[in-house]
Order: sequence, then C-alpha cells, then structure tokens
Amino acid sequence: MDTSPFLVEPGTAANIADRSTRKKVGFDGSKTEGKRLATGLAERLSELQRLFWADGRHKVLVVLQAMDTGGKDSTIRHVFHHTNPQGVKVHGFRQPSTLERAHDYLWRAHARTPGDGEIAVFNRSHYEDVLVVRVHSLVDEDRWRRRYRHIREWERMLAEEGTTIRKFFLHISHDEQRERLQDRIDDPSKHWKFDPGDIDERKRWDDYQAAFEEAITETSTEWAPWYVVPADRKWFRNIVIGQALVDTLEGLDLRYPPPAEGITDLVVR
Ligand code: AMP
Ligand code: MG
Repeated sequence: MDTSPFLVEPGTAANIADRSTRKKVGFDGSKTEGKRLATGLAERLSELQRLFWADGRHKVLVVLQAMDTGGKDSTIRHVFHHTNPQGVKVHGFRQPSTLERAHDYLWRAHARTPGDGEIAVFNRSHYEDVLVVRVHSLVDEDRWRRRYRHIREWERMLAEEGTTIRKFFLHISHDEQRERLQDRIDDPSKHWKFDPGDIDERKRWDDYQAAFEEAITETSTEWAPWYVVPADRKWFRNIVIGQALVDTLEGLDLRYPPPAEGITDLVVR
C-alpha cells in the first residue's frame, strides 16, 4: 500500500482538521482482508527486523503520539507482535520524575534512543514537552515555542549520526474517543485502562488538536517525517504503520554481515 497520502510533506501545514480519521485511503478490501494484510505486514516486519538486527549497522526510532485512547499501546502490540524483543525496545514517557525534571526535557529521550541494530519505539515522547506542557501552560509560551527548533535540530543530529526516524500521529475523532472512553467504563476488564483524568483532558480536545497541528507542522522534516494515520479503524491504522515501517527497513539496504574468515569450507566433526 502507498503510505504517501499520510505523510506530512516538510514545510507544509499538517492540516489535521482536514484529514480523515476513518477513510481507508489506498485500500478497498474488507475488514477481514485488512486484518489479514496487517498480520502479513507484521510478519514481514519481523523478517526484516531479524536481518536488521544481524546487520547491526543501523538504528531506527519510531515515535507514537495520539490523543488519549488513540491506540498507541494497541499499535505496539499488533505491529511489533512478531518481532524479537531482544532488538525492539519500547519506552513509555509519563510525567517526568524528579530526576528527569532536574534536566533539560530532551535528556530522558536521548537516553532511550536506539543503539546499532535496535528499533526503539517511543510510546509518547519528547513531543509531550510541546503538547501537554503547552496545553497546561507548564512552561511559558516562548519557552515551549523554542522547543520546535531544538527538536528539529536534535532529530537532525540523530539522523546524521545514523538513526532513521519515523513519527506517527494516530488520528482519532472526538466521537471515537468518547466511545473508547465509555467502553473503558462499561467493560470491567478495561477498568485498569481508565484514567479519570482523561475526562478532564477530553475537555481540552481543541487545545490538544491545535498543539498537535502546530507541533507536526513545525517538526515534519526530511530527516524525521510525521505521518498522520487515520486511526478510528484499528486494523487500518495497523496497515498504515506496518507498511510504513516495512518500507523503511526495506529502504535501508540491509544485509547479513560477511562470514568469519575461512568458515565457508569448514566441516564440524
Ligand atoms: P499514559 O500514557 O496514559 O500512561 O499517561 C502518561 C501521562 O503522562 C499523560 O497524561 C501525559 O500527558 C503525561 N506526560 C508525559 N510526558 C509528560 C511531560 N513531559 N510533562 C508532563 N506530563 C507528561
Ligand atoms: Mg492515559
């Protein structure tokens, strides 16, 4: 599938308000076919990740951001389902600890960037420092505004030093969030996921959308592009992200490292 319709071209407005949260752009199959494709992509990703790990010359950073209930956890569960946990590191970013707060906001993110052969997945990320921090005025505007530039330049440095970066905004509608929150209330097996604070955050929906719009517009770059992924349909979201990551790894010219000297004729007795 072609994922380019979801890419935010660097230098253009993200326009999230005009982007569909539901449309299956580029896929005209049924839900059953869609789920099959998503599974196939997850399997393909695991094959590529095996080679990527063996190759050991590249690093990949995947950033997932969304409104509450947007599906970050479920994306990780599905898209990376078949990969080897040894080479895939998932990092969740919550409210910063005292130690983290004592440092600049990129400090904790930098400590979790991938090493050679690793895929790091950020479940929330340094972007919270221009999202929740902005919406709740946790720092002054001129301070969070400067961060767009820091983030662009920090990501540029990572890219120039060998990290391939892909960023995904899981785009859900206001109504879809209502359903998902209600479901977390109605289904006892989902109570653990329900955070009463999410109800208050929902009241700030428009502020968050504005914060996302500007953050994505300001930081979608050639070296670290954003994708706005229609995420009301979970299986379609999984296809888009799975495909974008398969394309990313296929674009890396992966190869197994050369064999140790003289082993090709060796016979084990
Ligand atoms: P969850 O992802 O549901 O575990 O929630 C994590 C919470 O941590 C969310 O409410 C985020 O907005 C919050 N959070 C993450 N990063 C930051 C940050 N840098 N400053 C303040 N709150 C944050
Ligand atoms: Mg939460």
